[in-house]
Amino acid sequence: MNELAASITDGLELPPAPPPALAGRETLLRELRKARAVEVQPGTKFLIVINIADIMAYGDFIRIFGHKFAEDMLGIRVDDLGPVTQYAQLYHIGFWSIGFIYTPESPEASRNFFDALSRHLKQPIICRGVALPIKAGIGVCDLQKAQGAAEDVLQSAFLAGQVSSRAATSWSFCDYEVAADHRRAFTLIADIAYSLSQGSEFELCFQPRLDLRTGKWATAEALLRWRHPELGLIMPDEFLPMVEMTGLLRQLTEWVLMHAIAKAYDWQRRGLKLRLAVNISVRNLEEEDFVRRLALFLEKFEFPPGDLELELSEHEAIAHPEIVRARLHDLRALGINLALDHFGTGSDSFKYLQTMPVNIMKIGPALLASMKEETRNQTLVQSMIGLAKRLGLEVVGEGVETREELENLARWGCTYAQGYYLARPMFIAEFETWFARGAGSAGV
Ligand code: C2E
Ligand code: CA
Repeated sequence: MNELAASITDGLELPPAPPPALAGRETLLRELRKARAVEVQPGTKFLIVINIADIMAYGDFIRIFGHKFAEDMLGIRVDDLGPVTQYAQLYHIGFWSIGFIYTPESPEASRNFFDALSRHLKQPIICRGVALPIKAGIGVCDLQKAQGAAEDVLQSAFLAGQVSSRAATSWSFCDYEVAADHRRAFTLIADIAYSLSQGSEFELCFQPRLDLRTGKWATAEALLRWRHPELGLIMPDEFLPMVEMTGLLRQLTEWVLMHAIAKAYDWQRRGLKLRLAVNISVRNLEEEDFVRRLALFLEKFEFPPGDLELELSEHEAIAHPEIVRARLHDLRALGINLALDHFGTGSDSFKYLQTMPVNIMKIGPALLASMKEETRNQTLVQSMIGLAKRLGLEVVGEGVETREELENLARWGCTYAQGYYLARPMFIAEFETWFARGAGSAGV
């Protein structure tokens, strides 16, 4: 126990801590299934979860007071909920969470009960003579509206309890959309590792990029998709942050690079000469052996490094300048092209651009779209293109959705254009058919 906790408890006669001798989560889940097995009218049966304290504060609390103190505090709070047991059986469903099923005497009585419970929980917990102003949260789920399996309902009520303690409301009803989002995120995180080990659920789309100087298709950008067996097609903006969280990015990028390079090599052999662009994350550049492994892939497929372009988001690169700069130098030394994606989102974009060994700048869809709303942004994009070209860079306008945008970019000297107006990202078979039909050679 640390000094602070010791000073609090020193010299106090400690009452024996009442253990929270309640049935647990599994028993509550069984009761919940039973309660839902019969038809429930609105407002007549509720699942209630009390989060005794915000789970985020748990670590700090334990650090300061220790586990024993936390256990005692929980025991006191459970005892203190005694009056509730007139209405319901309590269950200890997580370290700091209590759940129960509540059947009000009348539909009108329920709100009074929730308010009274909330007032009760606002009283500080007195543990070993210390008054602790613990912020509890109450999540309320009307069983008539509950969705999903019993575990999902319990999780939704738990989330509602968190919302209530963070928003400092007295109590919160379940928000099924939020709960469904959490459930979806949880499913995705749980499935990523398995899907990656199988490989077959991931697929690449390719979006062609037009060379505005020649009117010919010049590059294909590989864009990753996940075909989840239950949830269907999932876009990268949703699953990539989870991949980063689970530490599987190295494996995923390896999969993308290998499949994209193999495909581009196959196209080159069949006479479809396209440069290949692949997105990477700054986390990949932190891998000690990233450059060496990439060099090996290129060698294996006899793929010219000059036909590969790696794209890195500007805001990510700015956040990790040192490691990024060093690795990018190594990649450029191999002859690989490097693009700063989503350029213009940072406040110091140009200052940064001058110090980075990149040879391509990509103006992203958001900035191009802003030209529609504000004509002043046209001048901004035009100046960005001019400045980048004076720095010796190639410029890609990405997110071209209209003929007018395409013509403007061409007039302002932009090197390449990419966007829905020209072609959407396509899966491999569609991409190949599209080229075979002549879309490729005709340009626009
Ligand atoms: P990004 O690199 O900026 O890719 C361009 C995104 O804009 C793509 O979304 C593309 O479908 C979309 N786009 C293309 N043309 C237009 C247009 O005319 N209008 C609009 N509104 N959007 C357009 P997508 O495929 O959903 O990819 C989203 C982001 O996910 C990518 O943004 C990239 O940062 C990341 N990403 C995709 N694949 C990979 C990958 O294999 N590895 C890594 N690390 N990131 C990836
Ligand atoms: Ca990109």
